[in-house]
Amino acid sequence: MNKWQGWRKIRYESDLDPQFVNEIASIPGGEKLYSCIQCGTCSGMCPISPYMDYTPRQIIAMIRAGFKGEVLSSYTTWLCASCYSCTVECPKDIKLTDIMYAAKRLAIREKVYPKRFPTPVLASEFFKAVENYGRSTESWLLVNLFMKTNPFKIFKQMGLGLRLFSQGRLSPKRESIKRRGELKSILKVLEKEHMVKSKDELVSTGKEIA
Ligand code: SF4
Ligand code: SF4
Repeated sequence: MNKWQGWRKIRYESDLDPQFVNEIASIPGGEKLYSCIQCGTCSGMCPISPYMDYTPRQIIAMIRAGFKGEVLSSYTTWLCASCYSCTVECPKDIKLTDIMYAAKRLAIREKVYPKRFPTPVLASEFFKAVENYGRSTESWLLVNLFMKTNPFKIFKQMGLGLRLFSQGRLSPKRESIKRRGELKSILKVLEKEHMVKSKDELVSTGKEIA
């Protein structure tokens, strides 16, 4: 990705968010983030880093410095292929892949991901479908994805879609499970445990920066 998002812009300390590092570090095992030595092993191991706007090492440095807007709106986290190479090789045992996921979840929560970039929209729509129906129905997932990224693609893919419908490979009927309420409660608990903590939660647990 060539989009240049800010190293050349002057940033004043007042523009930064010192709480951002604590939000990301609030995921299980996230506190190791503070011990990064900026060795660059993660960037060297990452097969996708040539295509990222910021390398994994830069992302860690930016999180620690409080560049919240730049990190959450960057393509890096969405291009991460979750291969875990960086996590396995990091000499400080920093769970970089989980940190990428934490940034993605926060970007969705704060709606600051790169607009019309399909990956975050797909992730968000998939989660919504599972949360509401217990299953993701491919036809609905695709329609929602196209509508929110590039509606004209629906016309381009219409021929293929109709062929798949006629062969019974796609169905317009939304799939759903029974006892959806119970699944919703389980997901809520999981989200509370693994989701980055909000600023208010950090304040209530005394983990905020004064
Ligand atoms: S490999 Fe680990 S210690 Fe080195 S820069 Fe990456 S996150 Fe930091
Ligand atoms: S998990 Fe993501 S950031 Fe880490 S090496 Fe793989 S693609 Fe790169």
